[in-house]
Amino acid sequence: MIYEHALDFAQQLDHADPLRQFRDRFYIPQHAGKPVVYLCGNSLGLQPKCAREVLNQELNTWQNLGVEGWFEQREGAEQSWLSYHKSCKESLAQIVGAEQVEVCPMNALTVNLHLLLASFYQPTDKKNRILTIAGDFPSDQYALETHIKHRGLSPSEVLIEIAPRANDGLIHTTDIQNAIAEHADSLALIWMSGLNYYTGQVYTMDAITQTARHYCVPIGFDLAHAIGNVPLRLHEWGVDFATWCSYKYLNGGPGAVSGIFVHQKHHDQHLPRLAGWWGYREDRRFEMTPGFLPDTGADGWQVSTPNILALAVHRAAIAITAEAGIVALRQKSEHLTGFLEYILTPFDKIQILTPDDPNQRGCQLSLLVRKNGKALFNYLTQQGIIGDWREPDCIRLAPTPLYNTFEEIWQVGEVLKRFYAS
Ligand SMILES: *Cc1c(COP(=O)(O)O)cnc(C)c1O
Repeated sequence: MIYEHALDFAQQLDHADPLRQFRDRFYIPQHAGKPVVYLCGNSLGLQPKCAREVLNQELNTWQNLGVEGWFEQREGAEQSWLSYHKSCKESLAQIVGAEQVEVCPMNALTVNLHLLLASFYQPTDKKNRILTIAGDFPSDQYALETHIKHRGLSPSEVLIEIAPRANDGLIHTTDIQNAIAEHADSLALIWMSGLNYYTGQVYTMDAITQTARHYCVPIGFDLAHAIGNVPLRLHEWGVDFATWCSYKYLNGGPGAVSGIFVHQKHHDQHLPRLAGWWGYREDRRFEMTPGFLPDTGADGWQVSTPNILALAVHRAAIAITAEAGIVALRQKSEHLTGFLEYILTPFDKIQILTPDDPNQRGCQLSLLVRKNGKALFNYLTQQGIIGDWREPDCIRLAPTPLYNTFEEIWQVGEVLKRFYAS
């Protein structure tokens, strides 16, 4: 697309946007009496207007039925609480490219990572190493480090970290593939983000998975920044397992329910796991007998009673993403982010860390602003443009296709002009 830095150009794009009505489904926070330009969906997505209503529905059920809410299907409700998680599967499966039996909403991301490591990290004397990305999200690093220690191993001897190249600061697929080949004899697991939270680089998950499969090394992805942002085909790619959070691009609310993916090829394998009663065979859960029998598929990794109030908002939020469709979202997203990149290019004090190839990024652009970065960030915030700041010199801006507009991106350009003119 050929972009122009002009208001009427941006407005034309908004007018022609097939997803433009989705913005009305969200509350846009206000600043000085006007809606902010919210470019922070990579950190916390906005509140869907339906959230309060679906919460109220479950509060009413609790009020009127008490414990019977677990079993009784109320009027107008699709599901008793007992099978509530199942009603999230259709949307989730669509969003991550999976069979419904392969996905389940549960817990929080890092908790799920520990549970999945308990199943998929099976170190032996000869094969005990874990390949990951250097400088990946801290929570993932802490989980790996402590999980490895928990198995009586030493993180420095187990971890193989692929570093970004010095020339472009990016992780190269071939570097990961070469490392997998080089360490194939000692590798027990590959765990990495699908999309880098800091640079916004999206990794070639399919190609990396092919290499992992070639060497028979299980591979799992942290999809925190990928889910709802880029198209995923976890089943088809043959990814072994994955987890994500739903408070970023899925707009599930602060600390919203996470979810997991476990590929069908593992469902009959009786993988070891850290179990709880909610992962027990559903048809026999209330027999309360000793000896854990896992439920089918991803559901068999559930541990505890789900938080129905959180699931209610989660279900409503992911239904919006599923309704818009990830293909349409991605198409708009490429244009929105491309427009932001175009708007930023004339400002030579701003360097974009994120790859300029649309195939190597999601919606987020990470701006390196070595001079007066914090002052610029504060100015943007004062002017109602909400991004986020990473010390010492990085501003992340994430235009999200569900609720951001081209006109808002144009506004960013106007505010930048004022900042650099002063
Ligand atoms: C946001 C994010 C997390 C957050 O983990 P929680 O357990 O939900 O707090 C973890 N990993 C990555 C890569 C993230 O971007």
